[in-house]
Amino acid sequence: MRKILLSIVKNKCPKCLKGNFFIYSNPYYNCFFHRGEILKKCSNCNFEYELEPGFFWGSMYVNYALSVFFGIIIFFVSYFILKIESIIFIIILISLGLLLLIPFTYYLGRLIWLNFFA
Ligand SMILES: [Zn+2]
Repeated sequence: MRKILLSIVKNKCPKCLKGNFFIYSNPYYNCFFHRGEILKKCSNCNFEYELEPGFFWGSMYVNYALSVFFGIIIFFVSYFILKIESIIFIIILISLGLLLLIPFTYYLGRLIWLNFFA
């Protein structure tokens, strides 16, 4: 469990925890300047990250779950803590929040998906 968490949090290979998975560990930098590309294989142990063709399409399920999770958090914060009562404004806040989080959920989604199967 600790190994999985370290791999996800530190952007490392799930097998050896030494080589990077994404080129850069900053999801926003990686998304905007490198189109979210991942490395083909681990630079340390040569583990191929794409286990089969189209393997990372499945990470959309994780991405979706993360987006729902963050959407619920934004709702609770805006409704219960910030005391915003306009549901339209809350929906706008959730939409903007999820738009800003796209690189982060993309990044986490792929790392979590790979760790399910590696
Ligand atoms: Zn490795």
